[in-house]
Amino acid sequence: MSETPRQITLQEWDRQVEFWQAAGVPQPAYGGPLGRHAADGDTRLLQLRYDNSRAALRLWNFLLTEEDRLRAAREAGRKLVGTMKDLGTVPVLAYSLDNLVAFYPDGAWWIPCVMEVNSGLLQIADSLGVDESFCPVRAMLGAFVTGAHFPIPDLLTCSVGATCDDFSAIAQRLSGLGHPILWWEIPHRRIPDPGEEATELPGGFSAPASLVRFVRSELERLRRALEELSGQTLDDDTLRRGIVQANHVRALLARLRDLAFTATPCPMPALEMLIAEMLAIHFCSDQDETIVVLQELLGEVTLRVAAGTGYSPADAARIFWVNPVADLQVMNLLEDCGGRICGTEYLFAHALDPIPETVPPLEALAQMALADPMVGSTTDRATRIVAEIRRFGAEAVIVSRIPGASHCALEGEIIGELVRAECGLPVLEIEVPPLTDALRPTLSTRLQALVETVKNRRNR
Ligand code: SF4
Repeated sequence: MSETPRQITLQEWDRQVEFWQAAGVPQPAYGGPLGRHAADGDTRLLQLRYDNSRAALRLWNFLLTEEDRLRAAREAGRKLVGTMKDLGTVPVLAYSLDNLVAFYPDGAWWIPCVMEVNSGLLQIADSLGVDESFCPVRAMLGAFVTGAHFPIPDLLTCSVGATCDDFSAIAQRLSGLGHPILWWEIPHRRIPDPGEEATELPGGFSAPASLVRFVRSELERLRRALEELSGQTLDDDTLRRGIVQANHVRALLARLRDLAFTATPCPMPALEMLIAEMLAIHFCSDQDETIVVLQELLGEVTLRVAAGTGYSPADAARIFWVNPVADLQVMNLLEDCGGRICGTEYLFAHALDPIPETVPPLEALAQMALADPMVGSTTDRATRIVAEIRRFGAEAVIVSRIPGASHCALEGEIIGELVRAECGLPVLEIEVPPLTDALRPTLSTRLQALVETVKNRRNR
């Protein structure tokens, strides 16, 4: 276990890394000072505070070296698959083959934050007619135009059907710019009619069996395209092994989330937990290393829980957080204001659920794709959030709106109504743009007010 848990600055981290390097302490190949990423333009890193464990340092360096990994994979002759929108399904297929690497160009969502809007990507999106009325995923267009943030993939896939208007319009614009896309459909998940054959999905939703069969046939098309790209056969046994491997990642994350969201004091800050959860979607372009990174993080958290060490006062307000924040610094801010995370729904809850291993593998992935909280009704999503609130014992909910995101116009109201009715908890809706510096006093006041409300309710 590291020394006493505390949050440190990037400069403190770099001094520590320098000390370790001088002492010959082994580092992973992608390790080193975080300051080098800031020097490359990721200047938001200078404003964040980080957990001081070696496991957290490894997590950050792993995240921030993804572009290098993608370029190295291409140089080594592996094919790159840009998987768009489905968040967690196509990468499981791709990583089942050893010469494919899948990643989400959607990840450009965070570039305006990490580079403090200095990347020029939003201006390029503007010039292509995709302005700030769209969510930050529009940065992806600029990344394709410049080619400066990820290599242009050998194959691009995108799920359509029950997809937000933002992504649908942006992906069509990308296609219009000359990037061929393999479209595949995930239909809207509806409640089965009375007497209609139904399938229970991972995560607790159900769907008509006919929808599962349809998505399975769509995944069959993807399977053939991936086979063609890789020159390898993606048979059921190979895919089954891929699912087992993906489930290994999900199981590690499940244990990590359980400990981080329930132990007192909180053993791992909100920011590192957000990054860790994101690894589930496409394994940050290296599935084996994702497992090592999560094992280290889980080891650190387990030791801290056993030793009773961690963060935040014992009376920190237990917050359930809905939607990822466009500005990562807000996760630090929550803790500054007296809160801690006890449950999350960052738009990809289905990528955290175990994939069924007892049904044919394409059927299992079809079930998972249909379990996406964003392909059903917001009421469905709210129902799942309520169940998770109860599981983790949260005392309040924050719905973090994403600027321009089509689903954010009304979802906060629907989620808030159900949470108040079912759990009687306070719900706060805030909007988090890619840079919140100008809003910090307002956001702090609102977060502090929520924390005070939670504490006052304890004394009723
Ligand atoms: S609108 Fe929401 S779901 Fe759609 S791309 Fe943006 S953040 Fe993702």
